[in-house]
Amino acid sequence: MTRRRKIYEGKAKVLFEGPEPGTLVQYFKDDATAFNNEKKGVITGKGVLNNRISEYLMLRLAEVGIPTHFVRRLNMREQLVKEVEIVPVEVVVRNIAAGSICKRFNIEEGTALPRSIVEYYYKNDELGDPLISEEHITAFGWAAPPEIDDMLSLSLRINDFLTGLFLGVGLRLIDFKLEYGRLYDENDQMRIVLADEITPDGCRLWDVETNEKMDKDRFRRDMGGVAEAYQEVARRLGITPESGQQDIKGPSTIQ
Ligand code: UDP
Repeated sequence: MTRRRKIYEGKAKVLFEGPEPGTLVQYFKDDATAFNNEKKGVITGKGVLNNRISEYLMLRLAEVGIPTHFVRRLNMREQLVKEVEIVPVEVVVRNIAAGSICKRFNIEEGTALPRSIVEYYYKNDELGDPLISEEHITAFGWAAPPEIDDMLSLSLRINDFLTGLFLGVGLRLIDFKLEYGRLYDENDQMRIVLADEITPDGCRLWDVETNEKMDKDRFRRDMGGVAEAYQEVARRLGITPESGQQDIKGPSTIQ
């Protein structure tokens, strides 16, 4: 790896200065954290798999018109992305109750929600990413109303598309977290684009037949087989990290 200036180091990724202005290199680590950093660990090979899975999903989303920060994958652990100004709001979309919503409303895990629910969390580790409403977002100036509209409608489109994509490979998309950024063009026009990553680190994915968890909950709950679950998600999506350039074959639809 050439020596590059480190811009930011997060829990699962490092951002480096990109090769040209307006770009960044996103490096995927094997490190895993949960419960707001209380639990730390390493999932061997996770970074390589997440780099591939996020590349694949961002490319599929771009094909259906979702603007993203993704440019191209550079190598096993790195991808080139457009530099954006991250909106400090985490958008969570839920289809089936799991995790924090179960505790908050005393709902049994696995209960289908009457409709997809979109929640916003303030992206702030010190505060433990608190749940917020649109009122907080606009009052504190984290995003403007039209930006919230864009994030909401993009998140619902992404949910529809990914729900179908995962169902096609025998996985139920329970919930997931998205992050957005502001991308400025040459004329200083701004648009909201999907940023960060979409991987089993920030999604809940259950096997359609067995309800087996195929995501970071295996790490959160010490269930074992974490790397194997991520590998299986990649395999079902038609991604085999061992092979070369032409290795993304696309999903193999199950009957
Ligand atoms: N999530 C995430 N980062 C966070 C919080 C949540 O990626 O900081 C994802 C999480 O993996 C799950 C969804 O968002 O797919 C909803 O998480 P939830 O609110 O249930 O939180 P948790 O169970 O992690 O406390």
